[in-house]
Amino acid sequence: MKNRFSIAIDGPAGAGKSTIAKNVSKELGVIYVDTGAMYRAMALYLIREGVSAEDSEGISAKCASADISIDFVDGMQQVILNGENVSGLIRTEEVSAMASKSSVNGDVREKLVELQRKLASEKSVVMDGRDIGTVVLPNAEVKIYLTASSAVRAKRRYDELIAKGEQCDLAQIEADIIERDHRDMTREISPLKQADDAVLVDTSDMNIEEVTKALLDIVEEKCG
Ligand code: C5P
Repeated sequence: MKNRFSIAIDGPAGAGKSTIAKNVSKELGVIYVDTGAMYRAMALYLIREGVSAEDSEGISAKCASADISIDFVDGMQQVILNGENVSGLIRTEEVSAMASKSSVNGDVREKLVELQRKLASEKSVVMDGRDIGTVVLPNAEVKIYLTASSAVRAKRRYDELIAKGEQCDLAQIEADIIERDHRDMTREISPLKQADDAVLVDTSDMNIEEVTKALLDIVEEKCG
């Protein structure tokens, strides 16, 4: 394998990208970069600043003053927003909804893509997101497009929320997933799509161990 390499994992929400990317990065001894967390940190900033998700000029103006960076503690990515570690504050439904809407903004994307490319230029990475193989790292050594049916993805999310003791409605979760997929796939800038040279892995009928193994096999085949 080369001294420095990048593995790009793209796909819709709930396909298991982050769990699998973490496992693969651990096996390979490289860092895992969760780009969704950067869009979430930006969304948290915009919410705090009182910017509406529909106000694209306001988002463009405000995003310039959000200083987002990444730190690693015991191999775990931490997202720093203007000096504050916000990793524990970005997994709420409110932030998810704002991230989905504000990530269509070109100024937000430009700023975060620059940070993502810088990280990959310094170290080997497993990076996950929506546009990693297509836009951020078009020369990544390995590209995977991880997906699963919306019903399976909704059920996984439902089980997670129930395990946390939260009230939720399966049909509503699936409707939200479909809406966010649609926004990600149809936006003008960097829409979610499979790169021509990405390997498609449908995880609908696979468990975490099976998917991790499948990806490690693909890495082995591509990089030796
Ligand atoms: O993956 P996660 O759900 O944490 O991402 C949050 C939001 O950020 C997504 O809804 C998606 O719209 C956006 N995103 C993106 N490009 C990426 C990663 C995430 O547009 N590379």
